[in-house]
Amino acid sequence: MAVLLAGGAGYIGSHTAVELINSGYDVVVADNYSNSCPESIKRVEKITGKTIKTYEVDIRDSQAIEKIFVENDIDAVIHFAGLKAVGESVQKPVMYYRNNIDTTLSLLETMSKYNVKNIIFSSSATVYGEENPVPYFETMKRGVCTNPYGWTKAMMEQIFEDAAKADPELSVILLRYFNPIGAHESGMIGEDPHGIPNNLMPYVSQVAVGKRECLTIFGNDYPTADGTCTRDYIHVMDLAAGHVKAVDYIMNNNCVEIFNLGTGVPYSVTEIVQTFEKVNGIKVNHVYGARRDGDLAECYANADKAYEVLGWKTQRNLEDMCRDTWNWQKNNPEGYGR
Ligand code: NAD
Ligand code: UDP
Repeated sequence: MAVLLAGGAGYIGSHTAVELINSGYDVVVADNYSNSCPESIKRVEKITGKTIKTYEVDIRDSQAIEKIFVENDIDAVIHFAGLKAVGESVQKPVMYYRNNIDTTLSLLETMSKYNVKNIIFSSSATVYGEENPVPYFETMKRGVCTNPYGWTKAMMEQIFEDAAKADPELSVILLRYFNPIGAHESGMIGEDPHGIPNNLMPYVSQVAVGKRECLTIFGNDYPTADGTCTRDYIHVMDLAAGHVKAVDYIMNNNCVEIFNLGTGVPYSVTEIVQTFEKVNGIKVNHVYGARRDGDLAECYANADKAYEVLGWKTQRNLEDMCRDTWNWQKNNPEGYGR
């Protein structure tokens, strides 16, 4: 029984690989390393003591991925493979639509050909758009996205729902992630962004380690308690555990389900910086700057459904997230060194 992790060498995929292996699943990884490198999987092998079958392949290439389905007994696919930088998606929308939609289509086509009926998809809280009030519930309609990246997620959700309607045997779980941060407790795997980080936590940790001068906090005039935006930060290992629960569920239920994977608790940007400093005993130089285009004041989940249906809830708090991020960053100041 094997789970194919498409895009499995990336940040969330590599942590999920650890949790799946530790839960007794065999995993097969397919990645073109456009935003990762083979070293992450080598480290997963060290952490778990298991050898992982890995394919260097572009998931859009249907012919190339057929080999994976021929050579392995794939029971379920988790589709992590996508481009994810919001700003870049505004600059290069066609590249984002081409990559993200095409990976989805070739996976669905190939799964159909080889009679694989279970797929779990990495969606995002961004699909709730601007209209829905927080906290977000899975029953809310998808909203109007603020950028092409978000639209690719909304479109892919629609594609999966349509595919499942046409093939009642196809089971689909759409996981809407909130803000994953942190790293495996060992400090051996973690988030390794190319160039200047877009996301808050890698920026914070790179300032702390001396790679960047100063964090700019985007806006302190939002209608929140301290004026900075709030988000639902979730430890990546809790997120990984959520995938294991989703795999357990999809193996035993013919379903089309959406789950929020978040803690349900919002923290502000200032709280993140202060907690990181306190837990790790290190200063993070920061200044307050202008708002970033497209940012919402608040974004957090109602995470009850994942608990009620999957029996999943988060185990780690913000201190754990800040400690584990720093443990990874200080042990790997250059990330995987790619
Ligand atoms: P990541 O970039 O670290 O991982 C994605 C992986 O997919 C990378 O290893 C990349 O090389 C691979 N990939 C991309 N296009 C590919 C292709 N055509 N063929 C083969 N491999 C390809 O990102 P992540 O943070 O691990 O995110 C995983 C998924 O979760 C993405 O789909 C992302 O959009 C989604 N997501 C991430 C976040 C977040 O904050 N990290 C939030 C919500 C949703
Ligand atoms: N943020 C910030 N400075 C940065 C990066 C992010 O103040 O250098 C803020 C951003 O405005 C948002 C929060 O941190 O309020 C989380 O941003 P991130 O890009 O990590 O995730 P998003 O919620 O936008 O997906």
